[in-house]
Parts: sequence; C-alpha cells; structure tokens
Amino acid sequence: MTELPSKENAFFEWYNEVLEQAFVIDKRYPVKGLNVWTPFGFQALAAMDRILRDAVAPLGYEEVNFPALIPETEFQKEKDHIKGFDRQVYWVTHGGATPLDVRLVLRPTSETAMYPIFALWVRSHTDLPLRVFQIVNTFRYETKTTRPMFRVREIHFFEGHTVQRDEQSAAQQVEKDLGSFRVIAEALGLSYLVHRRPEWDKFPGAHYSLALDIPLGEGRTLQIGTVHHYRDNFSRPYGISYEDAGGERRFAHQTTYGISERLLGAVIGIHGDSKGLVWPPSVAPVQVVIVPVPGKGPAGNLTPYAEEIEGRLRKAGLRVRTDDGPDRPGAKYYLWELKGAPLRLEVGPRESSGRTVTLVDRLGHRSQASADTLEAAVTGALERFRVELSSRARAAFLGQIEFVAAASGLATAKNVRLFGWCGAEKCGHAVDEAVGGSLLGTVEGPPPPVPGLPTDPPSCVICGATPSRWATASRPL
Ligand SMILES: [Zn+2]
Repeated sequence: MTELPSKENAFFEWYNEVLEQAFVIDKRYPVKGLNVWTPFGFQALAAMDRILRDAVAPLGYEEVNFPALIPETEFQKEKDHIKGFDRQVYWVTHGGATPLDVRLVLRPTSETAMYPIFALWVRSHTDLPLRVFQIVNTFRYETKTTRPMFRVREIHFFEGHTVQRDEQSAAQQVEKDLGSFRVIAEALGLSYLVHRRPEWDKFPGAHYSLALDIPLGEGRTLQIGTVHHYRDNFSRPYGISYEDAGGERRFAHQTTYGISERLLGAVIGIHGDSKGLVWPPSVAPVQVVIVPVPGKGPAGNLTPYAEEIEGRLRKAGLRVRTDDGPDRPGAKYYLWELKGAPLRLEVGPRESSGRTVTLVDRLGHRSQASADTLEAAVTGALERFRVELSSRARAAFLGQIEFVAAASGLATAKNVRLFGWCGAEKCGHAVDEAVGGSLLGTVEGPPPPVPGLPTDPPSCVICGATPSRWATASRPL
C-alpha cells in the first residue's frame, strides 16, 4: 500500500486510489465502464439500498421488478424520451443466430418497460395513486470518460414511478419524494442542493426536473438524484388513463424519482480523507472492528474476551468484525482506517483483565468503557461519530459555494457559483460560457447560508434584469 494522493489537490486520483486500495470495487473487468463490486463494497451498496427502501416505504411505494429488455416499439412511443436516449442505449438484435423481428433495448431507465403495463393496471381512480419502485441495473453507453460510480455504463439504480390523478397530486408527490431524500441524506451525513433544471436541461419527456446536486471540490458538482414531473407526457402515448368518480376517462399524471450508485460515490468522495475511506455508520460494511492488542508479557488469551464482545455487538445488530490476523496492531489500525471502519475497539491484557474496552473512532476520538455498558457505549460512540461527520461535511459543503455578484466573478470564482438569474435562456447560456461549465438551475427553497449573501436574489448576473431567482453553476465533473 502506498500513500494516497491529496484529496484536495487531486480528487480523482485520490478517489481511484482509495477505491482500489480499500478494495471497494474491482476495475479490472474487461469491459470499459463496467465494474465489479467486491464483497466489501457490495455490503455498503446493499446498506444504501436498505436506507432507500426504508425511506420510501412510508410514502406508500411498493417494490417491483420489471424486465431489463424493452421492445423497440415500446421504447419509441414518447418522442422526446427516445431522442434523449437513442445515442446511449445498447441494442439486442439477435436471439442466438436469428435476427429479432423487434429489436430490444437494454433498459437505460424503465419508463418504457413499465408504462405499457401501467396502462393495464390502472383502470379507475380507485387504482390511484400507483407508487412502485425497483432497484435494478440500467445500461447507458457513456461516451465521456468513465469513473467508478460517477459515470459508468452499467448503473445500480433506484427508480421510483408513480401514477397520479392530476397535475397537482403529481406535484405533491414530487415534494414528498424530496422529503424522503432529506431522510436519506441525513442517514448518510450529506448536505446537498436542490435545483430546478433549466428547460433545456430537463429529463427527456419531463414537464420539469428537480435535481439533487452535491459540491465535489474545485467548483464541480455531482448529480446524485432526480425527481421528475411528467404531467401526461407519457400517459398519452402509453394510454395510461382512468375513469374518474364522474365516469369520465382521464389521462393520468406521472412522476419519477431516481437515485443511482453515485450516491455511494458521493459518500466516499465527501467523507473520505488522507487516510482513506470514512463510512458513516449507516453504510459502513464494518461498523466496528475489534483489534486484539497483545501486551509485552505473555500474550495471555485475548480470544475469549474478544469473542464475547463481538458476539454481544453482533446481537445488538451491529456489523462487527474481529481482526485476529497475524499482522501487528499498528498495521491493522492502518488497514481499518483505510477501509473506513467508523469505530475500532482495542482489546489488550489490561482491557481483558479489567473488563473494559478502548474505543477509537475514525476521526481519532478515544474513550474507555466498561464491558458492563458495552452496547450503549458503542452505539453512543457511533452516534457521536455520525453527528460529527455530518457537521464536518456541512461545513465543507458551505465552504464550496460562493456568492457571485458580478458577471466577471463567474469565471474567476473557485467554488460553485451562486448568483441571481432572470430565467432567460440567453443569460443561462452566457453563464455556461463564462463558467466553462453548466448552469445547474434555480435553487429550490432558501439558498445555502454562505457568507456575504444578500437576503433577496440580486438582479440577473448577466443582463441585470429583475426579478431574478437564485441559481448556481458549476464546472464539469
Ligand atoms: Zn438575464
């Protein structure tokens, strides 16, 4: 193992190296943009999926599983959608040696797989709202540089789809989805921005698109999730209609909610440091690592005590592991810091004879606890760690957003630019050009409380028109 590159000065070098050294994914699969999840990495991904499932269950979402292959005839029903995706899809053209009568698309997202079936499921207003989600792999032929979790060709993807009676109930669903994302972000210790994407950058086929974006250093942002309102743009071509209470036939309104494995990439990118990964306890593959530390004298037998501790913590529902390998304790500390275990328990002869444990969290806080209160001490330490990790990430988040008062500042700012925008497309593209990146859209809700921010949005940073809305722009990832 070699020292990690500096995260601050060479983020992607650091990111690639930490993934490799901690063995979260294996990049040696012989197809570009397709990665192998190792047992260690997949535990984190599975934990993230559990958080997503738990967050949407109270909203009435139910889990489904639709086929990965979509007939071309269904895929092409919504004009804008196909235009947005046709350069990115993988085609299945043969069954064995026989050319298929109808070619099949490997799903880039599942609207066109689900909606012909929704048209069969939805008959009456009593069938609504319909709220389902699936967590599946989707496929997009990315032409830009691929990066693990951030830009891949096979994407681990949560996609929620709802069918609603009207535009208003669909808009309410969008708000509820955003509320569930607050719960998810809190569990992961992440701060983020919600943007309404400009018209020219919304999801293909959407009425409007809200995006969840996270600053990632040097003025870049990562889109970690989206919520779209489709109005009846899909229900018309797919025939998703219902009979209302008065016996009249109406087209439904629809929403979608997408979160990809990028979210886990963001967790790694945001919380990691010069020593390696730093997992929030909620997704840590190993939340507590027990390291036996033999003293100078006869090693004694630390195993029974370490086993007792491990057994009790496992019973308390924690993901715990004892590192009883042959390496010296110092090497184990180093390894588990690299692998980002939130909490290390050191167990030596003194701890064993005194029935205590020494707790050291991944941010370096050390404490002692009696074995009598082991479970409470460990869960308490994990909770304090979670809170500190979140507030550290919050401070870093705010430090990466910068208020820009004049057009000249768009080019020179070092961080994500926050400014007033009149909403005109011309001014939006002028922002893109000045930043050398993209206008992310208007900020939903109050702007982040960064220093020097006026109470109301100032006039448009490009044309000076009022009123304007708060908007941000970032450099390309
Ligand atoms: Zn303007």
